[in-house]
Amino acid sequence: MIYQGGCHCGNIRYEVEANIDSGITCNCSICSKKGHILAFAPESHFKLLKGETSLSDYQFNKKTIHHLFCKNCGVSSFGRGTMPDGTKMVSINVRCLEEFDFKNLPVTEFDGKSH
Ligand SMILES: [Zn+2]
Repeated sequence: MIYQGGCHCGNIRYEVEANIDSGITCNCSICSKKGHILAFAPESHFKLLKGETSLSDYQFNKKTIHHLFCKNCGVSSFGRGTMPDGTKMVSINVRCLEEFDFKNLPVTEFDGKSH
């Protein structure tokens, strides 16, 4: 499946090829505040259609994850990170996908707080 998503104001738009049949919520310090439902894909399956210069980057702790958000509307629709094996990944906030039925998505809670 190819999904389209982006931020609220429309400055950031992306396309991602993924099979999203479940989502992850996480209880770490940032996810618990943001309330994201996440799905993951290799960065090679992700295409930023517009908005590279509208992105602001927030990093903390080990600084391995780029918690990106739109400078204009503040919505964080995706993030970038690297797996321990070096694979570049994107995290997709499924709440930001177009016409995506996240209410019926099975969601697993990840214990990020203890990791
Ligand atoms: Zn925006």
